[in-house]
Amino acid sequence: MRVSVIGCGYLGAVHAAAMADLGHEVIAVDVDAEKVAALSAGNPPFFEPGLPEILTSSLASGRLRFTTDISEVAGSELHFIAVGTPQSDDSGAADIRFVDAAIDALLPNLGPTDVVVGKSTVPVGTAQRLAERLLSAGSSATLAWNPEFLREGFAVKDTLSPDRLVFGVAEGAGHQHALAALREVYATAISAGTPVVETDLATAELVKTAANAFLATKISFINAMSEIAEATGANVTELADAIGYDTRIGRRFLNAGVGFGGGCLPKDIRAFSARAEELGLGSSVAFLGEVDAINLRQRERVIARVIADAGGDAVDLKVAVLGLAFKPQSDDVRDSPALDVARGLAVAGAQVTAYDPQAMGPAQRRFPDLNVAENVQQALLDADIAVLVTEWPEFVQLDPRNVGDLMAHKRIVDARNVLDPAQWRAAGFHYSSLGRP
Ligand code: NAD
Repeated sequence: MRVSVIGCGYLGAVHAAAMADLGHEVIAVDVDAEKVAALSAGNPPFFEPGLPEILTSSLASGRLRFTTDISEVAGSELHFIAVGTPQSDDSGAADIRFVDAAIDALLPNLGPTDVVVGKSTVPVGTAQRLAERLLSAGSSATLAWNPEFLREGFAVKDTLSPDRLVFGVAEGAGHQHALAALREVYATAISAGTPVVETDLATAELVKTAANAFLATKISFINAMSEIAEATGANVTELADAIGYDTRIGRRFLNAGVGFGGGCLPKDIRAFSARAEELGLGSSVAFLGEVDAINLRQRERVIARVIADAGGDAVDLKVAVLGLAFKPQSDDVRDSPALDVARGLAVAGAQVTAYDPQAMGPAQRRFPDLNVAENVQQALLDADIAVLVTEWPEFVQLDPRNVGDLMAHKRIVDARNVLDPAQWRAAGFHYSSLGRP
């Protein structure tokens, strides 16, 4: 099929390359000329495992092109909207100006039977409004919502083989045509057994918000348990193992630690709360405010722990911060707990040296005064204490004996609960983690 993708960030660039990899003809548009140039040259402007490979092969096949010129989308049957929906500066609400701008730019280039497919995460009600916008502008194109569930770090796999597909389409003219087009564009995944939920626009929008709200709640739940465990001498990891054996609960997303971050969960729960307030239903999701508060508290808890474990005085304390990305296998530092811990320690007066295998560029672009090392050994050299904040395999596999030889004092705070306490203590370390004795 001939498809267009509007917005080439973490979601759109992967989606465009994956659609071309599946055999579709893809024209991908972004307003950022630098990004378009980098992607056209086969160089993703962000780290995503597997993306360079499918980007290069799709560009070479001639099935994938990037452009800043929206008029080039004319002739595509499906137009995927993948622009950003960040948090508004003045409130928790989602800023959907980029979605509106993309629709406005798309309108003059739409054919009568085209299908506009929203993938960005938007507040419930947005799709209906956009469908009315198409109609009022005289377009007979159909609007569908197809939320995206990819995980950064696994984005290529998640796009090529999603665990489910959600197609939201309004009843009326274009309904069957839009569903047929969506089934065709995702034919490979569907024939491999991927479940499809066909629904209305509002449900499709809400599925995404509800999924992220649930995941965020699960993480904050276990972090709340880790606070209780810590005060009572219990072990939160053993607790998570034990409750996780209950298949109604499940073990995944029950790792206590410094909490969630990134370009999705934090902003999505805030946007959900803001939208519920608008609907007069703030109390229905009031718990999400607590989920957010518990999550942000973990960052303070880790900062306080580092200072306490090193003797109580942050001033001139040399701290090695291991990790800056919000999670491993990503260079994304949007709302990153790791970056907040690094900054918080520096603000408290510590001499912070941070290292991350992929996220140092993005972190320094955000905070130019952040002191970074060239490698993990350099970060650890002469440090009074180390704190592991992003569970990159490179950090999880560190040999405590080698680490101890580099540091001024053998102290480590494991803010992801991923190291073996016995092994680190045996190497002479003062080891501490969250919610484990
Ligand atoms: P991003 O900031 O990385 O990318 C957004 C891109 O849209 C940017 O390159 C920007 O230049 C471009 N853009 C903005 N306005 C445009 C316009 N009018 N025309 C063309 N391009 C335009 O954001 P992202 O992480 O890719 O997220 C995009 C959407 O997908 C968000 O709604 C997000 O919540 C959702 N989402 C993201 C992920 C993820 O893991 N990153 C997963 C699922 C859903």
